[in-house]
Order: sequence, then C-alpha cells, then structure tokens
Amino acid sequence: MNTTKKTNFKTKFKNFIGIYKYTLPYKSALNWSLIFLFSSTGSFMLFPILIKHLIDSTQTSQSDLNYYALWMIGILLLMSVTSYIRTIINTFLAEKATTEIKKNVYNKLITLPLHYFEKNRVGEITSKISTDIASINEMLNWGLTELLRQIIILISGVFIILFTSKELGLVMISSFPITVAVAFYFGKKIKAFSKKTLEEIGKSNVIAEETFQGILTVKSYVNEKYESHRYLRALESSMNMAIAASKYRGGLIAFIIAGIFGSIILVFWYGMTMVANHSITFGEFTSFIFVTAIIGGAVGSLGDLYAKLEKTSGASERLLEILEEESEVELNTIEIINCDGNIKFDHVEFSYPMRVDLKVLENISFEVKSGQTAAIVGQSGSGKSTIAKLILQLYDDFKGAITIDGVAISTINKSSLRNNTALVPQDIMLFGGTIKENLSYVKQDATDEEILKALTEAHCMEFINNFPEGWHTLVGERGVQLSGGQKQRIAIARAILKNPKILILDEATSSLDSQSEQLVQMGLQYLMKGKTSIIIAHRLSTIQNADIIIVLHEGHIVETGTHQELLDANGYYTKLLKLQFNTSSSNT
Ligand code: ADP
Ligand code: MG
Repeated sequence: MNTTKKTNFKTKFKNFIGIYKYTLPYKSALNWSLIFLFSSTGSFMLFPILIKHLIDSTQTSQSDLNYYALWMIGILLLMSVTSYIRTIINTFLAEKATTEIKKNVYNKLITLPLHYFEKNRVGEITSKISTDIASINEMLNWGLTELLRQIIILISGVFIILFTSKELGLVMISSFPITVAVAFYFGKKIKAFSKKTLEEIGKSNVIAEETFQGILTVKSYVNEKYESHRYLRALESSMNMAIAASKYRGGLIAFIIAGIFGSIILVFWYGMTMVANHSITFGEFTSFIFVTAIIGGAVGSLGDLYAKLEKTSGASERLLEILEEESEVELNTIEIINCDGNIKFDHVEFSYPMRVDLKVLENISFEVKSGQTAAIVGQSGSGKSTIAKLILQLYDDFKGAITIDGVAISTINKSSLRNNTALVPQDIMLFGGTIKENLSYVKQDATDEEILKALTEAHCMEFINNFPEGWHTLVGERGVQLSGGQKQRIAIARAILKNPKILILDEATSSLDSQSEQLVQMGLQYLMKGKTSIIIAHRLSTIQNADIIIVLHEGHIVETGTHQELLDANGYYTKLLKLQFNTSSSNT
C-alpha cells in the first residue's frame, strides 16, 4: 500500500519534471522569475513587523510613526513593481513552453502510424490535448510560483509568530493539525464527488453530441423523445451526484465557521489577556493576528494548489505518453525516383493491428505491370481497400512479399513511394478551405492553368460554375456542403493534378450517377494512360477493359483474368455480375 503510494508520487514528480524541462531553454527568465518571487514575498513578510512598530510607536513619537509609515509605502511600491515584472516573466515562460509542447505534440501526432488513430478517437485526443495544455499553462504561469510563494509565507510566518511570542504562537499552532486534518478529510470527499460529477457530465455531453451529429437519423426515426429521455437520465445522475456532494461541502463550511473562527477567538482571548498582563505589546498582538491570517490563507490555498498540481501531473502524463509514442518509422533508405509502377504481391497475408486474430488477406498473389490497369472486385468487406492501404505502406506488418519495381516495399522510403502514388479514397475528406486550395494541397506549386485543367477533366467545372465565387468557394464545415458525387470529382481532380505513376481508385465513382460517371470515366481513361492503375470497383460495368481483374472473396483471390476470360470460366465473377445485373434491373 505504502509502496504504491510512493511510486505514485514518484511518477507524478517524473511527469512534472518531464514537462517542466520545456521551460529550461529560458533559464535566465526562470532565474529572474525566482529572484522577483523571493523579493516580492520577502517584502510582503516585512509588513507584519512594520505594523508592530507602527502601532507601538503611537506610544512614543509622531516622527517614529511617520518613519514606519514611509517604510510601508516604500515596500508597497517595491511589491507592486516586482509583482508586475514577475507576471510578465511568468507569462512569457508559460507561453513559450506551452507553445513548444503544443508544437511537439502536434508534430508527433501527425507522424504516428494510422493504427494509432484507429485505437484512439481523434476528437477525444484533440479535446484532451487542449484541456491538458491549458492546465499546464496555468500551472507554469502562476501555479508553481504561487505554490513556492505560499510555502515561503507559511515558513516565514511561523518563524515570525514564534519570534513575536512563543507562548501565543504555540497556542495558535496547536490548533493547526486538527484544522488541517478535518479540512483534508472533507476536501478528499468533495474531490471524489466532483470527479464523479464531472464523469457524469461528460457522459451527458457525449449523448448530446451524438444526438446532434446524427440528427438526421434521430429525426427520420422520430426518436426525439427517446433521445430527450436518454439525455435527461444522464443529467439526473450528474445532478444527484452534485447534490450528494453538498453534505460534505456544507460540512466543510460549518467546520470552517466553527473550527477556524473558534481558534481565532481562542487566540484573540489568549492574546488580549497577554496584552492586559503586559507580556506583549498591542503592536505585537496586532502583528500576530495579521500573520495568523496570512498563514491561514497560505494553508487554505496550499490545498487548492496541491489539487491543481495533481491535475497538471495527470495532464503531463497524457501528453508525455503521446510524445513517447513511436512515429511511423522511416528507416527505409531506398528512394524510388523514376517509378515504373510494377506492383507485385506474393503470398501476402495480413491482419489489422487492432484485430490480429482476424486474417483480412490470405495468400494474395498478383502482378500488375507498368502501365496496366488492374481491377479488384468483390463483396464489401472482402479486403479490397486493405490491398490499397498496403500499397501505400500504411501498414508494415504483413507476411509474404510486396514489391514495387522489384524492390521490397518494406525497404522503400515511404514518402518517395507516396509521392509516386495517388489514392482516391472511398470516404473523401475535403479541408475547410476553398476548392482551389483543396486542389493545390496535393501540388503546392501548381499553376492556375494546371488546376483549371484538372478540374475540367474531372468534370468539376459544371458545378463550380454554378457557385458565385467559383473555385474560391469555401467547402467543408464552414462553407458549401458538397454532395458525395461532387466531392468524388474533386478528389479525382486532385489525382489528375498530382499526375502520379501509380493510381489507386477506391470506389472512386461509386457516388456518381450513371451520367456523370460516364463523363468522369472519360477523364479517368485519359488520366490512366501510361500509368499503373488499380481500380477498386463496386459497379462491374466500369472495369470491363481492365488488363486483369482480381476477384476477391473473404480475403482470398478466387479468380483472376480478363473480363472475357472470367466470363468464359463462368465462376464467381459471373455470379457477381448476374447478381448485380438482377438487382440493378429490378431497381429500375
Ligand atoms: P472492402 O474494401 O473490400 O470493403 P476492407 O479492405 O475495407 O474491405 O476490409 C476488409 C476487412 O477488414 C473487413 O472485415 C473490415 O471489417 C476489416 N477492417 C478494415 N479496416 C480495418 C481496421 N482499420 N481495423 C480492423 N479491421 C479493419
Ligand atoms: Mg473498401
């Protein structure tokens, strides 16, 4: 029990150091921050001593009184100036360090392999990062120095008290342990409750988010009432939790009133008796009360600061975890410059890292020669997209061999391979910019003519011309929502602009109606000239001219051949064709 607590503290400390090291490049600022901290806190602690002298000098002379008042004004000025500078330095430190942390975390995330994002929900990651970084910023900005300040105040305050009057000091200090222990007990209970409350609130937020994201589904199934009940239930449990916590909150407040004010009365009573007996002066007594109040404040805020420190430690741990994740390894040195586009799979077997027990591909062997067009067909879930992902080196852990131009893919530099490849994926994501920006994304130095040509060939201009702002129209979340077919055409235009040696179209025309599909198909035919193309197609009518058709079923190749050969064989492909023909004719 004890040991786990120790290691816990150790890891907390380690997390803390791991993050604090980001301020080290600004060592001199850090030193100055400490110097100003000590001077402003030190001068603050001179106040009670001056108060004592000020009050006691009323017994002696007016000039003494003036003298101490002037001292107090001087110290006040010093405190203002040092606090001003300290605030500026701390903000500088915190902002520099958190910007560096944010940059590192972002750069790390963007290089992480695909399966990291399959394991972790992206929305969750980004929201966690921003709250974690905010709490680190807060801690670096004022939390840490505040912690130090209160510790200095506490220690020096106790010294001043004991120095003023040992007897009264001991009376006061003896009431401390009980106060701290009781406050600690209530504090712990309240913390546990507020954590649970937060969790419940989080759950209700998830429900609200899901509802509004899927509002179309909610409305079309008339499930507003159901969702509203679901949300209400979640709200109620967070409410009940907060109400249950009130017992302890109330207890704490009652205790503060009874305990703290009780001990203040005790100290007042005892102290005034001492003043009456002339054991201490009235000035000493006032200064004593002043310091007691300061110490009380320090103890109170130390609890709060400790809780914040704990929170920051958790935040640091999560960020450090991300920073320690392994990036997509780029050890491969072989660069393909003039890619021919010969692709060969040899007995490839593959499982996704998330589901290692499930073989998604097994015994996959085929070859696509430079300039050829291969089509991959099969039911959904048969592994077609997975083959595309393997060609792009999005996953490394496969068995068997994949070669590009005779070179094992696992030795080829990832960027150089991806530079020679264009993928039009199944689910297309456009970035929140203009249509034009979405194109130049794949070729930053593209001229306007090139972009226009690509958009025209992909038959995008038909709909772009309908927008008042043309290709400067914003798309995505803050702009025009494009239809699935329009997005597909933009994605195809991207591929046309990139003009790679290897082209992979993953059901790239599936959202198009037959008329625009025919148009786009013509553009694609043009694009595919001289390139190695892999067409993953759902609609079999689009692939009849392919040099080779690979028929997949549950991760296995069941047939390969040209359209005619497969028809002659009268096997699985023919069955698929007939199935599709029947459904499409019964649909119309
Ligand atoms: P297709 O493109 O032919 O419809 P996929 O290649 O996308 O099929 O998927 C093949 C199989 O792999 C399916 O059973 C699917 O559930 C599974 N799968 C796809 N992507 C992942 C992933 N990222 N993690 C785990 N399993 C996956
Ligand atoms: Mg697919």
